[in-house]
Amino acid sequence: MRLTDLRPRWITDSSNRSGMGMGFQCPHCHNVRLVVWFSNPVDGGPMYRLEQMPQIPHGASPEVVQQIVRKQKLTKMANCRWFRTGENYASMTLSPSIDASEAGHWHGFISNGEIVGGEIKPITKPL
Ligand SMILES: [Zn+2]
Repeated sequence: MRLTDLRPRWITDSSNRSGMGMGFQCPHCHNVRLVVWFSNPVDGGPMYRLEQMPQIPHGASPEVVQQIVRKQKLTKMANCRWFRTGENYASMTLSPSIDASEAGHWHGFISNGEIVGGEIKPITKPL
């Protein structure tokens, strides 16, 4: 399976930036889109902004601590960055692996535009 089979799209924003990351259909189920952010955006601009890590206030109750720890985990995921080679979907290689397995989705590699490893659902008709 190729990345180009999974309807990849660059992430853009309203300030004319493009290719800070990309979204594509999960190779495992084709039902959700996975999003990866690049440490080296395709447009040559700086890495897209990181989200600030929520802090636990002094003297917070256990419930609040638990809530914030959950937010910290999500923020950490949103702040992951992949190193990219290749300027287009057909030639792209990312490292490290893309691991969405905690959410029940694909864990594998994109290497030279090829989807490598993990459980893959074959494409029977065009997405
Ligand atoms: Zn999936």
